[in-house]
Amino acid sequence: MKVLIATEKPFAENALKAIKAEIEQAGHQPVVLEEYTEQQSLLNAVKDVEALIVRSDKITVEVLDAAPKLKIIVRAGAGYDSIDTVYAKQKGVIVENTPGQNANAVAELVFGLLVYAVRSFYNGKSGSELGGKKLGILAFGNVGRNVARIAKGFGMDIYAYDAFCPADVIEAAGVHAVTRQEDLFRLCDIVTLHIPATPETRQSIDYDLVNLLPKGGIVINTARKEVINEPELLKLLANREDIKYITDIKPDADAEFAKLEGRYFSTPKKMGAQTAEANFNAGVAAAKQINAFFADGCTKFQVNK
Ligand code: NAD
Repeated sequence: MKVLIATEKPFAENALKAIKAEIEQAGHQPVVLEEYTEQQSLLNAVKDVEALIVRSDKITVEVLDAAPKLKIIVRAGAGYDSIDTVYAKQKGVIVENTPGQNANAVAELVFGLLVYAVRSFYNGKSGSELGGKKLGILAFGNVGRNVARIAKGFGMDIYAYDAFCPADVIEAAGVHAVTRQEDLFRLCDIVTLHIPATPETRQSIDYDLVNLLPKGGIVINTARKEVINEPELLKLLANREDIKYITDIKPDADAEFAKLEGRYFSTPKKMGAQTAEANFNAGVAAAKQINAFFADGCTKFQVNK
């Protein structure tokens, strides 16, 4: 089988080598398309492949229609909102992600950003500490659980809400489970977002929700920009000068947010999963999942059932 590794943002060299080796040892043929700048390059490359490994690459109706032999797409990473999963399903194409492989990387970044924020962005002025503060984790998935693990080391009081994860699983991790996301915002000094971008979560972080935060509250977003209602968050930040917004995903209205000196920070580019380890682990996991699919039809990580 031909397996295309199509990445606008390439894998690290050692990761690509390991991915190709994994595919070859199963008797398949890896093909690489890296740093492409035009969609036509992707349309040409998918023509005769049975499997596709991507990162944040956009897999649209057009791409799926250009790939008549395609059977499986694996997103090396967690979020798969860049793939038209519904159309893929209609065409009988399995879509998978590689859950958990970059979760520690994202969770560590949360704390890197948080320390920076509570220490007044290292501007030389006095700040505050994370120890003893209440941390609210919105979604207790792979990233949320790693955030909870690290937060314990900081001595934080940890709360979580997840629409699908049972409260006893959250409590078993030594975290207080709350029954509504509003409670996280009402209770916690800091709320960290780990929800996927879905029809339910898009623009769900809005004025009324963030306004529930106590004085000096912080929202940190390493999930997706789409979950934020940007006009409402900007309005809230204008009305509540005590609130900070920290993000790993530059908002569309970055220039507007940037006017909020000392209360806003965005990484220049999404950096959550940008570690050598996450890059390697997610890429190799993707190759293994493709091999397992062709070997025995395994679709354990399918996201478009
Ligand atoms: P995951 O699939 O392991 O966890 C997602 C959790 O969200 C699940 O527990 C699910 O039950 C919960 N959930 C789904 N809908 C919900 C809702 N409406 N309300 C509350 N909870 C809901 O994913 P993950 O690995 O923890 O990653 C979370 C998100 O972070 C990804 O979807 C992705 O968008 C983003 N992410 C960003 C980066 C980055 O580079 N910044 C890297 C990895 C992941």
